[in-house]
Amino acid sequence: MTADGRTEFETVILGAGMSGLCMAITLAQAGRRDFVVVEKGTGLGGTWWDNRYPGAQVDVPAPLYSFSFAPNPRWTQRFAHAPEIQAYMDDLARRHGLAPHLRFGITITGAAFDEATGRWTIALDDGRRLHARFFVCSTGPLSVPRWPEIEGLASFAGERLHTARWAPAVPLAGRRVGVIGTGSTAAQLVPAIAPEVARLSVFQRTANWVMPRMDRRYGLLDHALARIPPYPAVVRWFWAGASEWLRRAFDEGTLARRRVLGEAQRQLRRQVRDEALRARLVPPYPFGCKRIIFSNDYYPALARPNVELVTDPIVRVTPAGVVTADGREHALDLLVCATGFDVQHSMAVPITGRVGAALQARWRDGAFAHLGITVAGFPNLFVLYGPNTNLGHNSIVFMLERQVAHVLSLVRRLVEGQGASVEVRAEAQARSNERIQRALAGSVWAAACHSWYKTASGKITNNWPGPTMQYWWRTAVPRRRDYRFDAIGHSGADGSPG
Ligand code: NAP
Repeated sequence: MTADGRTEFETVILGAGMSGLCMAITLAQAGRRDFVVVEKGTGLGGTWWDNRYPGAQVDVPAPLYSFSFAPNPRWTQRFAHAPEIQAYMDDLARRHGLAPHLRFGITITGAAFDEATGRWTIALDDGRRLHARFFVCSTGPLSVPRWPEIEGLASFAGERLHTARWAPAVPLAGRRVGVIGTGSTAAQLVPAIAPEVARLSVFQRTANWVMPRMDRRYGLLDHALARIPPYPAVVRWFWAGASEWLRRAFDEGTLARRRVLGEAQRQLRRQVRDEALRARLVPPYPFGCKRIIFSNDYYPALARPNVELVTDPIVRVTPAGVVTADGREHALDLLVCATGFDVQHSMAVPITGRVGAALQARWRDGAFAHLGITVAGFPNLFVLYGPNTNLGHNSIVFMLERQVAHVLSLVRRLVEGQGASVEVRAEAQARSNERIQRALAGSVWAAACHSWYKTASGKITNNWPGPTMQYWWRTAVPRRRDYRFDAIGHSGADGSPG
């Protein structure tokens, strides 16, 4: 596996995105350097490596979309573009000496816990196997691209791309391009490519709420101040607080909701003068039910003379283009699917825990974990950006840091002699999930809309229901009674789902 052929590690981390990187740095800082990060992509970045479509940009202010322990005084603008975030991650890996721990272009094809040895066996796509005491799964929910199920899609004779697998060399100038989807990704791609292409057809199935993005470039003063503590921390906390205020906008009847909704409606009126076009851009669902889009240039791009918003439903794809319900064939050279991710199958790796428990089978009707991190029946398995830890309003980096700290405390307890393996108790997992689902039942995400936050049956498996500080509080210190610390060879009876 390594240059010296090692296959035994204390920890194997699956995925070199923000969460895998956070785990790796934290382990290194804690002196636990016996780990390897296995990444199927050919570079560091995870989502920022995969999503290289033009315009890819974070929509959380960069000072908040960076690690609390590693402020970046070099951000060039408030909402950083993908290459800049990826460069930030590369820089961190270099500064923390992670190169010897990173393995790119290798896919983990399965992992199984061996009760006799108390170790995980991790299978790789080249036939080799790694063995580790701890297995950290940090794929996140948005890693498997979802192609739309549209008749004839494969028959398209032009070029076909998914935004999460963009081909930077694909020519755009002078071409007729179609974009299927109008989520956060499409809202960034469309304005970025509209000036370049000959014609752009944007196929919208559902209109979304679009909020202004308060972007600005950082100047010399920002860069100078960013090097003087506590300025970076103050900016970070300012944005964390502002984002928490935005969370109130998810709750019916709040002042925040009225203000934010009013802002979105004003932006639509201000930026789209054509009343007929504006009417087609009014979302048919309550504000916040689907992911809010932050953009200043999406609406203006749709109003360009070379851009058409197509709202007649797609009937099929032909070799020449896309046919819509009104009988029109939209002739295309390039068809881009900005159709999101297969969230339910993002844990594509078969993981087998105690007494043969299969994680994918457990999660068939919707993923769950204790605090999004540990799963009953799966000792020494830690999930990062797991079930019900996504946010619709704040930085996922905050959540990742809390999760990594939680994992490290459990690891410390084990190495300090509390046992060979740690596993959440099924009752604790069931209790925490009931609590989460109760809180989500009355939330805006449960309203009538289709989104990646929930399963086909409507169970919300991705979002954390409350403020981020509540997550911090619940994860701060792992409660002894929620976990079992076992000796090697233990085989308990409760391998049942929580
Ligand atoms: P998405 O939010 O799931 O949107 C997918 C789009 O494709 C929707 O408009 C959907 O329409 C449409 N679609 C899917 N299948 C279709 C079909 N068969 N026919 C027609 N339309 C179809 O995916 P995304 O835009 O890639 O965003 C996913 C998530 O990634 C975001 O919610 C966000 O969390 C994250 N993201 C973040 C950033 C950022 O931070 N800047 C940027 C991009 C993405 P319906 O709405 O009708 O289903």
